Amino acid sequence: MKTDSPHILCVNPWIHDFAAFDFWAKPLGLLTLAAIMREKGITVSYIDCLDRFHPREPSQMKVLWDGRGPFRKTQIDLPQGLENTGKKFSRYGIKPQWFKEDLEQINKPDIIFVTSLMTYWASGVQETIEAVKEVYPDIPVVLGGIYASLCHDHAAKNTLADLVIKGPGEHQLKNIIQKFTGFELDAGNLPDVNIPDVEISGVSDVPGISNRVNDLDDLPFPALDLQNKIVYAPVLTSRGCPFSCEYCASSYLEPKLRRRSPENVFKEIEHWHYSHGVKNFAFYDDALLVNAGKYAFLLFEKIIASKMDLFFHTPNALHIREITRKAADLMFEAGFKTIRLGLETTDFSADRSHDVKVAENEFFNAIAHLKAAGFEEKQIGAYLLCGLPGQNLDDVEASVQVVKHAGIIPVLAYYTPIPHTPMWSDAVKQSKFNLLEHPVFTNNTLFPCVNSSRDLARISQLKNS
Ligand code: SF4
Repeated sequence: MKTDSPHILCVNPWIHDFAAFDFWAKPLGLLTLAAIMREKGITVSYIDCLDRFHPREPSQMKVLWDGRGPFRKTQIDLPQGLENTGKKFSRYGIKPQWFKEDLEQINKPDIIFVTSLMTYWASGVQETIEAVKEVYPDIPVVLGGIYASLCHDHAAKNTLADLVIKGPGEHQLKNIIQKFTGFELDAGNLPDVNIPDVEISGVSDVPGISNRVNDLDDLPFPALDLQNKIVYAPVLTSRGCPFSCEYCASSYLEPKLRRRSPENVFKEIEHWHYSHGVKNFAFYDDALLVNAGKYAFLLFEKIIASKMDLFFHTPNALHIREITRKAADLMFEAGFKTIRLGLETTDFSADRSHDVKVAENEFFNAIAHLKAAGFEEKQIGAYLLCGLPGQNLDDVEASVQVVKHAGIIPVLAYYTPIPHTPMWSDAVKQSKFNLLEHPVFTNNTLFPCVNSSRDLARISQLKNS
């Protein structure tokens, strides 16, 4: 057994896309693994290819009051099969030369962990790993994250990663580190996950970790301090979602709803605020307000009592039916500034083609509660799904009107076909692209399941209406 502590490099890869903007996007999973490893005495380095504040950045990138801002953008060739779209395709993030120099400047790592987010950013992940391998051809690269979990075989075939893992990484850390370095990590109280279909490809001979506990409070706070600058902090108070919408992979990625205690979340918010001056926080939860009396309300009450002057944002939609008057009042008092509601459609009929998450009166009541609490119209947006397989755009247009009439902002959310979701097979059948060929064809900017040019023109009208 090797006892020398290894050096592990964590990398957040480039994005390849038609458009990208930092809407409070941080690789929380990777930074949580970094924090665990650091806590266990492992030396951890971090290179963020999406760093808006890289020291070589000549002019400071623009930062909005809420921490969001643009990534550096470099136009690159359109992917094969999309050459005739007339669109511009870009790499978002730091210059390749800066990445190479950053890789050369650190001590040689023993393992390199690369994360991944959107499935259709696959080629950005591929390019990142190629760049890593140019500098460290003999160092094992482990790829995890959402693309790796949802498109495991594609990632295994099309990247130079030595190992592609599915699902949350915490419970796989010990085996991975042991396999590649011989170092015995004290798995201690790392949380368990119970995900069907999780496997560690290439290390199937390594047995699982014993003594697991299932308590997210045991995890250290994600190592946001490894970044060059912290302009906002993402916060995750829970993992998983009690719903299973047909287009969403939440229940595949996190089959059980698990919560952190309000005390633990509050400590994290205090930590980033007092130790690093962070004022803006983005909740990443899929289910922030579910069972709020036991969780979210206690957290909000603590924040209010602390008198910290903070701003909160909910880029992942809130569940509308959970927005009671009490929830709205507490969110307003705690400092929530951006409210996004998961509406999908205003077709509230029971026989509509997709599942009904919210009833008409629940939607209007929620808006009334938010406004009575003090939220302004411009702070409240309702996500409306657009571009679903076989969707009648009359419904989308009607929903936009209802939302506007209700006095809040309609936010069109363009459908991305995602493997392992119930809607995936319909999307594959109805798409104008071969979605099975490459994840890039699932990019929602391409409206993969909208086949007529008339409908495409209508969507852009709706977008600009
Ligand atoms: S779309 Fe939202 S509510 Fe539906 S399963 Fe996903 S996270 Fe849950």
